[in-house]
Order: sequence, then structure tokens, then C-alpha cells
Amino acid sequence: MFDWPAFLTQNNIEYVSAGRYHVTKDNIAICCPWCPNDTTYNLHISLVGKGFICFRVDSHRGVAPQQLIQRLLGCPRSYADSLVAGSEIAIPNDRDFFRRLSALFEQPREEPMSTPERLRLPAGFRPIETVGTGIMFCSYLERRGFAIPHIRDLYKRYDIRGCADGGRWHGRVIFPVTSGGRLVSWTGRHIGGNPIRYLTLSVNDPDTPALRTIKDTVLWIDSLKSIRGGTLVVCEGPFDALKVSYLGWERGIHGTCLFGKSLTDSQRDQLQALDGFDRKVVLLDRGMVDHLNPRGRFAALEAAGFEMRFLPQYVKDPGELTRETFDLVFRD
Ligand SMILES: [Zn+2]
Repeated sequence: MFDWPAFLTQNNIEYVSAGRYHVTKDNIAICCPWCPNDTTYNLHISLVGKGFICFRVDSHRGVAPQQLIQRLLGCPRSYADSLVAGSEIAIPNDRDFFRRLSALFEQPREEPMSTPERLRLPAGFRPIETVGTGIMFCSYLERRGFAIPHIRDLYKRYDIRGCADGGRWHGRVIFPVTSGGRLVSWTGRHIGGNPIRYLTLSVNDPDTPALRTIKDTVLWIDSLKSIRGGTLVVCEGPFDALKVSYLGWERGIHGTCLFGKSLTDSQRDQLQALDGFDRKVVLLDRGMVDHLNPRGRFAALEAAGFEMRFLPQYVKDPGELTRETFDLVFRD
């Protein structure tokens, strides 16, 4: 059985469980990726292998998980197949067991060096201009509180780009992710209604594999390392980090993000090692604060001198901060 909850969590796709949005037992639901603007979780997915069906449009249905995976990730069938195969729980028979046992005692084979050392941004990831296809990205950024005349700065400072090449990353604002001075991955925020808000390059990508899983990185780590003084603000998503950096630019307040709600060991170590800042702050999404486990991972950051800050009641995430609410959070 394909493990839908694990897959959706891994890919940052929000889902609801039974009891909410008319979802019944043994099902979960996501916003339908075939419906143009579903925000009410109309695609119900069976957890017991009965397929998926949209409660809005009857033809949005299927049985094979691959079909839905492809739609959600925009990936080739072969990749969807490999995900489905990888999540099957195989029960080995005696012959398999013997084969595995003998494999343990075989001489290790010379593994070909298949990991590419370089990753390049596709040609379709263009600096965002105020003309042509750039206009759709500009108006999106403007809606999110970035002034049009400053958009060029976002490119110069953070290499923020837009993709409008009709391919897999089409319609996304791209955040290149570097580490140790080289590009290791990227993630793209969809500017329309795609239920995969952030699509991230995978280390298993068949065409251009990421050199690192994004959860082993921290956004803009290379430039943050060279900063002396000021405030570091750790957020959940790239747009949160971008907004904090944008509003805090003149005050020496620098955002970064964890690419999700959790903090990995590697991220914790990298954040702790950033020792040039006068102050380090964690600023999570509104809904996240209720789930904070005082003995959880974030406690490790608190112990390392990170201060927990909270958003005003009416601000959902740091990406929604305005000049006024930003000044409220960073009054001192
Ligand atoms: Zn639908």
C-alpha cells in the first residue's frame, strides 16, 4: 500500500484526516490538483488502496497512485513508479533471504561515481523583469508586499528568479539553494493555485538530481556566514525568510528558513555555527507555536541562545508581515 500521509508530508502538501471536510474513515483529503482552485480538500484519497476521487468533478479519479503522484509532482511516470515501488512493504521469502545473506558476504563492488559534482540552474529560471512573463511574478510579489522597484534587488541579493518556460517549474518563484559556495538544490513557490505550494528539487530527480536534500540546508547559509552583527531570524518557509530580510534590510535583520516545520540535526548544527550575529531569533508560523514541544528540537536552539518570538494574533506567518506588524515584532 502506498504511504500517502508520508508522501504528502515529505512534499509539503497539506492534507486533512477523517472527521474534517467530510472525510470519512480510512481516507484523507487534499485540495484537488485537477480542479483549478480547490481550497476545501475535495480530493479524497483512500488509505486502504481504493484510489482517489474528487468530490467536485467526477472524472478526477483514479486507482493507481502513480497518476496522482505525477499530477502533484509534475514528474515522469518512471519516477512515480519508483516512489510506489519504494513504499511497498516487501515480505521476503526464503530465497530472497538467502540471496540477501550471500550478498552480505560478497566483495563490495566498485560503485561508479554517479553523483554529479555540479548543478546548474535551468535556462528557464530567469531574473524577474517588469516586462513580458515577468509581469505575472511581479504582480504576485507585489500582492505579497514587495514593492515593484525592489524586485530587482531580490534577484541581486538572493538570486530569486521566475520560471515561465512551460515545464515542470512553470509558474514558480525560484529560490536557489547554495551551500559551500555551490548550488545544491532549489525550491519553487507556485504563484497560482497549485496544491504543491513549494516544489523542491529531489536528490532522486531523474534529470538533474539535487546535490543535497533541502532539509540538510539552511537558506542563504553562505552569505549569512559572513555577516557580523545584527539579527538572524529563523523562519519556516522561503517566503517568510524573504519578507523578514526585505523588511529588515536597513536594520540588519536577516531571515533564513528551515524549508518546513521541522528542524533537522544538520540544520540545527548549521544555525548554531552562525556566530557572527548579535542576536538570533526563531519566528515560526502562527499555527506552529501551539505545537511547540518544550523538550523538542527547538529547545536545542533555545538552549543555544536563540530567542523565541511570536507573531501578532492576526498574522498567520512571517510572509504576511507588513512594515507595521514587522516593527511590532522587532520593536527593540
Ligand atoms: Zn477535482
